[in-house]
Amino acid sequence: MSYTIKDIAVAAEELKKQFETLEDKKAIRRSPTFRELFSKIKTAEPDKRAQFGAEVNKLKNEVEAWLSELESDNDDRAPIDVTAPFPTNSNPTTRFSLLPTQKGSIHPLMKELETVLGIFARMGFATIESREIDDDYHMFGALNFPEGHPARDDYDTFMTTQKDKKGKQFIAPAHTSTMQNRVLRQFASNLVNDEPIAVVIPGRVFRNEDLDARHEHTFYQLEGVYVGKAVTAGNLIATLKVFLQEYYQQELEVKTQPFYFPFTEPSFEFALSCPFCKKQGCNVCSQTGWIELLGCGMIHPNVLKEAGIDPTIYTGFAWGGGIDRLVMMKYDIEDIRHFESGKLEFLRQFS
Ligand SMILES: [Zn+2]
Repeated sequence: MSYTIKDIAVAAEELKKQFETLEDKKAIRRSPTFRELFSKIKTAEPDKRAQFGAEVNKLKNEVEAWLSELESDNDDRAPIDVTAPFPTNSNPTTRFSLLPTQKGSIHPLMKELETVLGIFARMGFATIESREIDDDYHMFGALNFPEGHPARDDYDTFMTTQKDKKGKQFIAPAHTSTMQNRVLRQFASNLVNDEPIAVVIPGRVFRNEDLDARHEHTFYQLEGVYVGKAVTAGNLIATLKVFLQEYYQQELEVKTQPFYFPFTEPSFEFALSCPFCKKQGCNVCSQTGWIELLGCGMIHPNVLKEAGIDPTIYTGFAWGGGIDRLVMMKYDIEDIRHFESGKLEFLRQFS
């Protein structure tokens, strides 16, 4: 019995059907149809054997091609990107050519905040983050701002229409001092164990500001709270001085001048000698040689009392300062609005 090219066509049809129905596609390599076809090469008429063999091999290669196409579809398929601006999902050669990518970087404020918190951690301060929405009590009441006191007007921020149980609107905090009452209560047990309360509180704060190069509606503050026995304003000034020298990596002079905050008594405005001109006068310090950096003071007895701490036994200090301002000075950034602008041109300089 002799076999012809027709047999190959029949076998090919059969294999195709098997290929479509087989669960394990690779099993087609061991298909009886295949084996039969190969065995027929030997018995083919001598003058047709070579051609028959070549045709069988051609079919085998075709089947291998189906299999390898199937494998590449299964194993290397890129996730379909429905937003791709060109037919990336269809053509295997362009399948991975998605839009060019590049690595982002940590925002300069967050990077610097890490440095700042690292310094305070080495000085023994714990870190607690502030909240981005708070209530009237923590914004004002717990901080010795009496109801209707004009000092409240200095903290013009944003409020929700929703109200708390006391009928007061919720507030986007205008300062990180909203956390003072909470951390004093949370760490009060330190005092019982004769340890101080030492906490720094970083957070995002909000002000209803007229925006310019120095004023932004959203910025970052770092609050510091330290309470113990016989704590004085000298400890406050030394703590801030050590921090600033560490941050700017140089010797600095500092000075305070009287100020008013309802939640500290006495209150100070804290200034440092300009780290850029060594008090010679430059643009950063407006030619004065000094930079007013933050507000601080000894925690008001009423604030301690409100947190359940006896002000006749314990005293403490607190400060609150803008992180943006620190970073602007360090890198000579001329406009605070760059930080929240999302401008890649600005951000790439810190990558
Ligand atoms: Zn200067």
